Amino acid sequence: MTAPISPATAAALPEQTVRTLDKAERGERLNAAEIESLYSLPLPEVAGVANALRLMRRDPDTVTFLIDRNINYTNVCNVGCNFCAFYRTKRQKDSYTLDYQEISAKIVELEEVGGTRILLQGGVNPELGLDYYTGLLRHVKANHPTIRIDAFSPEEVLFMEKNFGMDLDTLLDTLIDAGLDGLPGAGGEILEDDVRARAAPARIRSEDWFRIIDAAQRKGLYTIATMVIGFGETFAQRTSHLLKIREQQDKATRDYGGNGFSGFAMWTLQTEHTRLHGKAPGATAHEYLQQLSVARIALDNFVNIQASWPAQGFKVAQAALYYGANDLGSTMLEENVVSAAGGGGRHKATVRELVRIAVDAGFTPAIRNSRFEIIAWPDVQAELGRHASNPEEARAVGAAG
Ligand code: SF4
Repeated sequence: MTAPISPATAAALPEQTVRTLDKAERGERLNAAEIESLYSLPLPEVAGVANALRLMRRDPDTVTFLIDRNINYTNVCNVGCNFCAFYRTKRQKDSYTLDYQEISAKIVELEEVGGTRILLQGGVNPELGLDYYTGLLRHVKANHPTIRIDAFSPEEVLFMEKNFGMDLDTLLDTLIDAGLDGLPGAGGEILEDDVRARAAPARIRSEDWFRIIDAAQRKGLYTIATMVIGFGETFAQRTSHLLKIREQQDKATRDYGGNGFSGFAMWTLQTEHTRLHGKAPGATAHEYLQQLSVARIALDNFVNIQASWPAQGFKVAQAALYYGANDLGSTMLEENVVSAAGGGGRHKATVRELVRIAVDAGFTPAIRNSRFEIIAWPDVQAELGRHASNPEEARAVGAAG
């Protein structure tokens, strides 16, 4: 591996800083103070180490993505997060709850483009009974047997526990029996309760988020770790968030046969049409890439780190592939939550678009499942009119993607 720090640069950095970057590049674990110090370093130095680690931890030539669909089964929610422009009260005219046939129609569209997974999440809708959730899972499994169901954030699970008076183990067993394959790690944001209390007073607290994720991992369910920056949180709070996730990953690796988080997804807060608009700073592309690099270095027990195109757009997501990310997330087909509050102006991606991002950045694109296992290699020639190994060839043919 090429040392990312030139002798001239190293000479200009404090000795302790150089030691921290060297330590990280050797793959050694950084402590809280060392991680926090990364935020004060020049981004190219941090990114160089993050990219070197990414190349070591996952096939250096390959960038993966998933063909899936987000389905938000209801936008009725009684949590009322200040950063959310997606939710409605049940009295609002544009509130909705999808029936099973409407959800099936969306899955058929996913099947037509070769998709393998739905990400099924919604608001906390007090009108829905347990039967709606279990019936929905059974309906999807019966009618779409090749589709994997990753569903319900810890917030929704917490609601079900309370509303249906079930203990967590019984609830998860009931959902798994009905067809649940995974529990997305949405709602992580910053897992520090004073940040959460300001952004969303009724939001699930960090202790419950980890309690539910831990039980899901113990039961063999898929999970990913998430992070959102831009609430005005401090670097110490971001560091603490990363350390808590790293600790949970250690626990799952040790106690649950390695069934920890399959990956890490991080994006920037979007505030348009929300009560936080003008009150929370959000985060620039630079801050996003900095945070991504720090996460790659801090999370030494993670293989897969996603780039975020819904919040940052395709161009920054492409750059992120050199700041520690090895994955482009998924096609989504309809992203409703981040895009309702602004974002990169995108709520879906085509296979062709994600192939083009990967190829033009110099990688070979691969289609994965939600466990990050490669299941297919897209035909780059068919998608773009050129080969993965020669991205400059016939650029005009693929230039419209
Ligand atoms: S983020 Fe989720 S829990 Fe919060 S208001 Fe929006 S839909 Fe409800």
